[in-house]
Amino acid sequence: MVSRVIPVNNFDLVIFGGTGDLARRKILPGLFRRFIAGQMPAESRIIGAARSDLDAAGYRKMIKDAIAEFGGPEKKDATSLKAFLAQLDYIAIDAKGDGGWRELAKLMRKNVVRAFYFSVGPSLFGDLAERLHKHKIADENSRIVVEKPFGRDLESAQALNATLAAHFSEKQIYRIDHYLGKETVQNLMAVRFGNVLFEPLWNNHYIDHIQITVAETVGVGGRGAYYDRSGAMRDMVQNHLMQLLCLTAMEPPSQFGADEVRDEKLKVIRALQPVEPHHIVRGQYDPDGDSPGYRDDVENPRSFTESFIAMRCEISNWRWAGVPFYLRTGKKLKERVSTIDVVFKDLGHSIFEGDTARHRNVLSIRLQPNEGMDLQVTIKEPGPGGMRLIDVPLDMTFAEALGDDVDQATDAYERLIMDVIRGNQTLFMRGDEVEAAWQWTDPLIEGWEARNDVPKHYEAGSAGPEDSLMLMHRDGRKWREIKG
Ligand code: NAD
Repeated sequence: MVSRVIPVNNFDLVIFGGTGDLARRKILPGLFRRFIAGQMPAESRIIGAARSDLDAAGYRKMIKDAIAEFGGPEKKDATSLKAFLAQLDYIAIDAKGDGGWRELAKLMRKNVVRAFYFSVGPSLFGDLAERLHKHKIADENSRIVVEKPFGRDLESAQALNATLAAHFSEKQIYRIDHYLGKETVQNLMAVRFGNVLFEPLWNNHYIDHIQITVAETVGVGGRGAYYDRSGAMRDMVQNHLMQLLCLTAMEPPSQFGADEVRDEKLKVIRALQPVEPHHIVRGQYDPDGDSPGYRDDVENPRSFTESFIAMRCEISNWRWAGVPFYLRTGKKLKERVSTIDVVFKDLGHSIFEGDTARHRNVLSIRLQPNEGMDLQVTIKEPGPGGMRLIDVPLDMTFAEALGDDVDQATDAYERLIMDVIRGNQTLFMRGDEVEAAWQWTDPLIEGWEARNDVPKHYEAGSAGPEDSLMLMHRDGRKWREIKG
């Protein structure tokens, strides 16, 4: 079966930074998949805009090569690829100067959706917004898409919001967090709010704690200098993990609308308590044979920046009082895994003689790999020998459960870009949400900087520093295993 495709209106999508890594690796291969799915009307155009001195033919060649390198199986469809490339254009432009802007203004058509993707460093966001305005390229129906990082603290995020707000209304600004474009993340909302089964149990009466893990196997790679100024807290927790926490913990919105959902997420962030220093564990990965350690990777032998962080958070509201949320994320860990584990409480009393094990239902929501969910339930061990109980997962890997109907190829980026064209902001962060997240994050970072907190060592390929295990042990709990 073919998945249902919702058509979009004709659009002109200008990608500032159209020659960059993100555009070549994710955005353009993703748009090609949307083209194949029939979501790019024939009258629509994608216009690359960057500093390189290319013409349209040169840009098409660059994107053809990018799709050959980063695209999926659909790249073999030469006829579609040719037709897609024909809808591409390019303009050499300088975000900080005046070159190229008049030409871009001339290219713009009336009566189509105009979207401008800022796939450049945040220091250029203000320049782009100002010039789009000055050259009358953006109209009141235009949208801008901005990439992370959205600031590095509250002050810079406020400044960035103010810069964009000088030329665009909040309804026109799409702050992207690609985690929100993942199928499973949206499924989390479907499971919570589309079933009678879970919502009645989704509170401190039945849930013992929640774990959110985003583990990577790679180190900081070529991003060393950037990463060392940022660290896991700014790079991952303030945005991705915080968003996952919000969607897990938020109250049901009155409807699935952009502001309704974002209002509820904002309330969660505002209810987050400051985290005690002894509830935070930061780490740096060690060298492993020929593979360099964190400090070598970032070429800073005195770096105190964390490549791993684990923390115990609390949300002070009626639903969650007393239910810890344990977050952890890091580089060079055992496996590449992103999961939300909702661990339910023990039964309290077992009627089965000799059954002393601690049986717990656990709902695991897997973002990667094998997007899906499983629910750990307790059953009788098959065969003779009396009532012996075992815990087994009821596995729902979407690809298996839904067969051809699951749209595995659709990447988060392309899904979100189509939402921009449709004018749907539900899966994008609102300005006040981003600021509230920094407001919670800033004092934690300032705290460990003031204490000169030294990150703990951890072995590459492990589950993180020993102390992060202790964070759980102290509470009589255990991290779920990091496994794909
Ligand atoms: P990149 O360095 O590979 O590309 C930068 C692009 O910006 C190039 O096309 C370059 O020509 C253009 N550019 C630079 N200065 C310019 C100027 N003055 N005028 C016009 N164009 C200019 O960067 P990237 O990795 O593609 O990242 C782009 C943005 O996306 C950054 O904000 C980054 O933080 C964010 N991001 C990237 C990734 C990723 O996987 N690469 C992931 C998440 C977020």
